[in-house]
Amino acid sequence: MTYLSGPVLGIETSCDETSAAVVTGRTIHSNVVTSQADLHLRWGGIVPEAAARKHAEALIPTIRESLTIADCDIREIAGIAVTNRPGLVGALSVGVTGAKALSWALELPLIAVNHLEGHVLSSAIADEVPTPHICLLVSGGHTELIEVVQPGEYNQIGRTIDDAAGEAFDKAARVLGLGYPGGPAIERAARQGDPSRYSLPRGLQDPTSDFSFAGLKTAVRRLVESEGESLDVPSAAASFQETIAAVLTDRTIYACRERGSMAVTLVGGVAANSRLRECLAAKCLAHGLALYVPAIDLCTDNAAMIAHVGSWRLALGERSGADSDVEAVSLL
Ligand code: AMP
Ligand code: MG
Repeated sequence: MTYLSGPVLGIETSCDETSAAVVTGRTIHSNVVTSQADLHLRWGGIVPEAAARKHAEALIPTIRESLTIADCDIREIAGIAVTNRPGLVGALSVGVTGAKALSWALELPLIAVNHLEGHVLSSAIADEVPTPHICLLVSGGHTELIEVVQPGEYNQIGRTIDDAAGEAFDKAARVLGLGYPGGPAIERAARQGDPSRYSLPRGLQDPTSDFSFAGLKTAVRRLVESEGESLDVPSAAASFQETIAAVLTDRTIYACRERGSMAVTLVGGVAANSRLRECLAAKCLAHGLALYVPAIDLCTDNAAMIAHVGSWRLALGERSGADSDVEAVSLL
């Protein structure tokens, strides 16, 4: 990948994190994330209207902080990259409107970036990842297996037919009374539990490259109802985590064998899960596959991955106009 020679300001507001970053190619000068998790905690999930308002409040302070940490004057910025799809429309609009205003005022090129491409190529920031490879993208809103033929050329080979993996973590944590966001809460509780204590459904029958987590979520709810006070919550969390990690791992290995791919990347917020990392690493090793996992702060939603894609696409000569729109649903 070739990149713009000057620093790119990245802006990400697709969901519940306001983020701004200053990036030159693969070098991250700053990557500031202002999380709204505390705000949504009281509702146990993301309220779109509240998210948009919080982005409007946090956007400029977050951009300012990213410039300060990067020790970069706004006049030194060479381009602006902003997430415009997919995500919550109101939330995306705040970032896109801010980015357009800056691009107009500073006469800078603007590039609208697909959030999913940001995640998929986040593995290329720290590592030289060979192509083609299989990318397992697991986040709060997405669970996809993607064949990355080369940057910009993607084949979707599997996806969830209902809940995303992160969504399943969040919902299971809620019924287990562990709080929001569910992923880290389940991971913490699971450390004290026995992963073989409860047997939970894996969803779709193997072999397949698709996923279904709705049945697993329902099974956890039934377990809570049937066991009542006697439920061993840490073991329920551990059993749930073990099931998801095993399904994600097995489907990824299957996809690699189907496509004859020799490398795997693991990206998105759920990639922060250490049990998933462990399972996938062990199976990749056993099958002679190279595994690349970005640092945790590049796995969860962040603007550095958006600036990284923006720097590459701007160098290709791509530009977005002042009339660019946002999209709630979008494929790669
Ligand atoms: P993203 O949509 O990429 O921001 O990722 C957020 C999702 O990742 C949420 O659904 C979280 O519950 C999930 N997540 C974050 N950390 C972990 C973790 N340690 N284990 C499992 N899921 C996690
Ligand atoms: Mg995401």
